[in-house]
Amino acid sequence: MHPLFLPRLVNGPFEDPVLFVPFQFQRRAVIFDLGDLSRLPPRDLLKISHAFVTHTHMDHFTGFDRLLRCLLGRKMDLHLYGPAGFLSHVEGKLAGYSWDLVDRLRCGLRLHAHEVHPHRMLHRSYIGGDRFAAEGDPTALPFTGRLVSEPAFDVSAAVLQHSIPCLGLTLTERFHVNILKPGLEALGLPPGRWLTRFKNALYEGADPLSTFDIATDAGTSGGRFVLGDLQQQIARITAGQKIAYITDADDGPSNREAMGALAQAADMLFIEAAFLHRERERAAATHHLTAREAGEIAALAGARQFTLFHFSPRYRGREHELVREAREAYEKAKGKRA
Ligand SMILES: [Zn+2]
Ligand SMILES: [Zn+2]
Repeated sequence: MHPLFLPRLVNGPFEDPVLFVPFQFQRRAVIFDLGDLSRLPPRDLLKISHAFVTHTHMDHFTGFDRLLRCLLGRKMDLHLYGPAGFLSHVEGKLAGYSWDLVDRLRCGLRLHAHEVHPHRMLHRSYIGGDRFAAEGDPTALPFTGRLVSEPAFDVSAAVLQHSIPCLGLTLTERFHVNILKPGLEALGLPPGRWLTRFKNALYEGADPLSTFDIATDAGTSGGRFVLGDLQQQIARITAGQKIAYITDADDGPSNREAMGALAQAADMLFIEAAFLHRERERAAATHHLTAREAGEIAALAGARQFTLFHFSPRYRGREHELVREAREAYEKAKGKRA
């Protein structure tokens, strides 16, 4: 099986948090947090359609400039999401530069920023070709947990408490389309871009009785099929992938419940572990999780797999202690729940 999402932490666990998630076989990606992006080459930055910023502490937002610089002059839309105060933080970034020569770039970039509150979102767009002037006043939209809803996937968020509001995030594939190689071979069909179109037809719920024309990448016709028949012969539908991303949150009771619910049954949970539990007072004072808490939350959520990041620099060379503490807490909590 080829998973749709290929998430990877861009930096080491002592460096800025950034989770880059390219989509298999597509020139597209989403990104969680905009810490230092210097390790992402322009070809990866150009794939980003949506950026989700947990909060605007510098280590999570300093990469906004690199992303903006790379996309400048491109004709594209970039959707940005962040917690309370986000619109003014984006506007502050945009106000930090002179845009008088941007007209020469024929900048077709449009930014669509969303500020997420517990029950509503404020949305405002900024037009690159107009020196990033805002397009009208912010508009309010209802928010019930979902930030993005596309045929193939959703992105959801929970507003968690850090020292300031901070978004916990999930990316969920609706279902997964596995392409069966023997099925393709039996029909003499070469793999190619048409498979993305085929998958999109399934995600969009196209009528199984409708016809589906195959064009190969070489430009020849691969034939005409009834969509449902083709699906039976070349595809198998399985559960979709769920990825959760939680960082910079304290372990208060309401946060723990919200984190457990958000990451419920995640295939992969990326979760911060800033401190060892014996320094939990320091963790609480700075509103971060300890490794033990991270392991317990992963167990509470029933996450299949978890990866720790955002370690305090005091543990340099002792990463294994954080990993061991979280692993032990995860196993112990899972044992109790079984
Ligand atoms: Zn942080
Ligand atoms: Zn923070």
